[in-house]
Amino acid sequence: MLASALGRIAGAVGGALFPPLCPACRAETAEAHTLCPACWRDTQFVAGAVCDCCGRPAPGLPTTEPGFRCDECLRHPPGWDRARGVLVYGGTGRRLVLGLKHGDRLDMVPMLGRWAARAGAELIASADLAVPVPLHWTRRLGRRFNQSAEIARAALAAAGRPEIHAPDLLRRARRTASQDGRDRDGRAGNVAGAITMAPDMAGRVAGRRVLLVDDVMTTGATLSAAAAVLRGAGASGVDAIVIALVPAPRDDYLRAGLRSEHTPRESEA
Ligand SMILES: [Zn+2]
Ligand SMILES: [Zn+2]
Repeated sequence: MLASALGRIAGAVGGALFPPLCPACRAETAEAHTLCPACWRDTQFVAGAVCDCCGRPAPGLPTTEPGFRCDECLRHPPGWDRARGVLVYGGTGRRLVLGLKHGDRLDMVPMLGRWAARAGAELIASADLAVPVPLHWTRRLGRRFNQSAEIARAALAAAGRPEIHAPDLLRRARRTASQDGRDRDGRAGNVAGAITMAPDMAGRVAGRRVLLVDDVMTTGATLSAAAAVLRGAGASGVDAIVIALVPAPRDDYLRAGLRSEHTPRESEA
């Protein structure tokens, strides 16, 4: 009680002393938790019709059609039903994801959560449980937080459904190596078997529609591995929300690695 009151006072004082900073580039902004004008211009939101399965833009469609699958999803069917992403990976989207993943930048979470709640409104509304993609505990120690769990918490709060958050449902049973430099099959093999159900949690999943939350989707290998575990436990459906979608997970991009403009590590996390 006292601690939270002190926290509020400190926050108010801090807000008066230090101007709010842009979550992407740390330039001063007029309002907290919003991008500066330069970063806005460099941000590509996913807009218009999308593939109902992977959430990538489907420019040939007038509107998003339930059940529509793009060529990529037909060639490599993902393990989930529907996914939605907020941003196209690149420019500001890339800076935000890298800052969150490797820069300990919790300050951007309220903004990203708000955006995820908007992009994934339909998926959140139909979910019984929302499950962040887990980090191995050794990585969480190093990073202090699981970025996907923080995004899930903020998005569910913004959507008015905080009660469906189930951050301890899935686990990383082993620490996976970086996805950098791996092609599609390499990525799938790298995460195979790494994600498991936490003990005694399987009963919570049977017959439920589960929403996975992650920071970025490249080939979707990690999300597919998580979806397979959930389906194995009887989930009636699996959807996914991510902050950034890599537009074309071509093998040359995949091999280029994390810092390239096109390819983040998917689940080194
Ligand atoms: Zn900025
Ligand atoms: Zn697709």
